[in-house]
Amino acid sequence: MRLLLIGAPGAGKGTQAEKLSARFNIAHISSGDLLREHVRDQTSLGQRIKSYVDAGDLVPDALVMDMLRKPVVAASEAGGYVLDGFPRTVDQAKAAFEVANRLGVEVQAAVHLYVPDRELIRRLLARSRGSDDTEDVIAHRLEVYQQMTMPLLEYYANREWMFSVDGTRTPDEVHEAIVSRLEKLAAFDTTEERDAASA
Ligand code: ATP
Ligand code: MG
Repeated sequence: MRLLLIGAPGAGKGTQAEKLSARFNIAHISSGDLLREHVRDQTSLGQRIKSYVDAGDLVPDALVMDMLRKPVVAASEAGGYVLDGFPRTVDQAKAAFEVANRLGVEVQAAVHLYVPDRELIRRLLARSRGSDDTEDVIAHRLEVYQQMTMPLLEYYANREWMFSVDGTRTPDEVHEAIVSRLEKLAAFDTTEERDAASA
């Protein structure tokens, strides 16, 4: 199964991706976690992207694409993935589609986790993960989300494999809501996908 998870900072992408990964036995690939690891380990990529991540700005598309290509292709061959935090822009979605197309794979569902801004800010301030969780940077990340990622939701809006789920409920409730939507979607899909979805 190949899933995309789209949501604002603090929407719970990481939590839901973990649950989906365990449920369907697929890899959890988080662009944010991978980028933060590079910054922490001070790799050459890490040094190039640190200022973007700290400021709450998006890392340039090409750098994110290069970082993700290998793990995504490997996971795709090994049974699937849930991509958490990518694509985040229309350009990234188009570029990813090109790559996937060349490999003969396509994404099966995109899940949009919806949480209102006030709740996002409350959650982000409460967790304070690091340098990009200060009040100013949080406000900026929400702006970036509106400007750069909301257009992606519009771009995907009329795809039958894209749906929104209320992300304000408990993690388990959100998870069950996602799974039940996936099962409905799977009814339109091939047997293999249906089996994966009900496994
Ligand atoms: P969560 O829902 O897990 O709280 P988040 O939005 O707070 O998610 P991450 O997804 O972990 O945070 O992203 C953190 C930072 O990493 C972003 O602010 C951005 O700088 C960078 N980043 C992550 N994914 C991408 C991407 N697809 N393109 C560009 N930059 C990215
Ligand atoms: Mg995350």
